[in-house]
Amino acid sequence: MNKKQYKLIALSLAMTMAVSSISYAANADRKVSAAAKTDNEVLTVAKKDIIRKNETKVSSGPVIEKPEIPAKSKLSFTRLGSKKVKVSWSRSAGAEKYILYKKTNSNGYKIVATTTKLKFTDKKVVAGKRYKYYVKSARTYDGKTYASNSNAKSFRIANFVNTKHQKYSYSEICGDIKSFKNAYSDYVSVKVVGKSNDKRNIYDVVIGNKKAKKTLLVIGNIHAREYMTAQLCMAQIESYLKNYNGSVKGVKVKSVLNKMAVHYIPMANPDGTTISQFGISKIRDKKLRKALYKMSGASHTATWKANARGVDLNRNSNSHFKANHGGKRGSEGFSGTSAASEPETKAIAGLLKQLKNNKTLKGVVNYHAMGSIVFGSGGSGKVKKETQKMYRLARKITGYASGDSYGSSSGPSVGSMRDYVMEKIKSPCITLEIGVAGCPLPISQFSSIWRKNESLVLREAKLLL
Ligand SMILES: [Zn+2]
Repeated sequence: MNKKQYKLIALSLAMTMAVSSISYAANADRKVSAAAKTDNEVLTVAKKDIIRKNETKVSSGPVIEKPEIPAKSKLSFTRLGSKKVKVSWSRSAGAEKYILYKKTNSNGYKIVATTTKLKFTDKKVVAGKRYKYYVKSARTYDGKTYASNSNAKSFRIANFVNTKHQKYSYSEICGDIKSFKNAYSDYVSVKVVGKSNDKRNIYDVVIGNKKAKKTLLVIGNIHAREYMTAQLCMAQIESYLKNYNGSVKGVKVKSVLNKMAVHYIPMANPDGTTISQFGISKIRDKKLRKALYKMSGASHTATWKANARGVDLNRNSNSHFKANHGGKRGSEGFSGTSAASEPETKAIAGLLKQLKNNKTLKGVVNYHAMGSIVFGSGGSGKVKKETQKMYRLARKITGYASGDSYGSSSGPSVGSMRDYVMEKIKSPCITLEIGVAGCPLPISQFSSIWRKNESLVLREAKLLL
């Protein structure tokens, strides 16, 4: 029962002063049963007590504040270390104290804390085990306890991102993002910045201090068959979250991410990735599917680069754009009928503009595959200078070759994301090409890529602080 409902009772009492006490009793009775229905648990609500109190109030004149059943709290978790989790909950209107319950596997719930605070650090959690918690928000009035329970929520210390198999998929990304949100609620937030043609989410996973005045954007998997870049981005996110209170390759994570929020679009082309991993049949929209079957590359979809409309997303940005460049719609190279014609391109550009407009964007890292190369040429003035700094650091960390000699003799690339970032958004930007085999990269490449790239984004962020 909330304040409004009690005010209602009080009001109805005042208005019906002259009516017999039986009507008060009926009124109070209705309110109690409504509360019992809406609240998770009512420890002790003695209907006759409330009725009696109502009658007392009527006879004694002034209306006395009545006990409220505290509102339900909402639980969240932040893993603080390998054996520690902070359990937090939202403030409950009307609660005087909170009782935290915990349960392991088939054992019953036990009280782990009784507190007036909104958090509790549980230092007795073991990796791999699943725990369930709920919090009881309670208050005592006139010797009776009024309480409601939060929904129970489970927590587990685990590694979520699977880097042992090749086809790290869109549905795995969705599940892992959900797990990050559940296990690291203080350090991560997630936005959907757009939807693909086949209605898959384009996620923006933000790690670190959401209110930081500086941001870095990492974009992975623009090209479908380069989906190991999504796996790499997700593994980086997990490493930084897991070690938030520690360090990664000697860099204290907190000291960087408290000052700079890192935005990740780990899978910029989820439709294309689905085509490359599982074939055109997994595209849900019948019209898209029908068109795809007629495109060039439809017979060998494992090497698909484009999106579900046969547009190469790294030719679709509004920079040196040429309409219908690269022949026809197909597995790679087609620029589209107009700049940013594709929802994926719009989603990335939208986020870039937002970060530019709020003056936080310090740099962009693009992940592509393959070749073990870093690109850092182009730009002018401060953008060029900062890009060069990012480029030199990336080469030092990864040992990758220079992309300088790969400049096209036929002028700038059509609609490339990196040119768009540097020339239109005016942000420093580097591109890394991971791996040494043909795409899709075999999973045997991952461990070497990981050694070279685990700390890369964190160190680029530190450089740009
Ligand atoms: Zn690429």
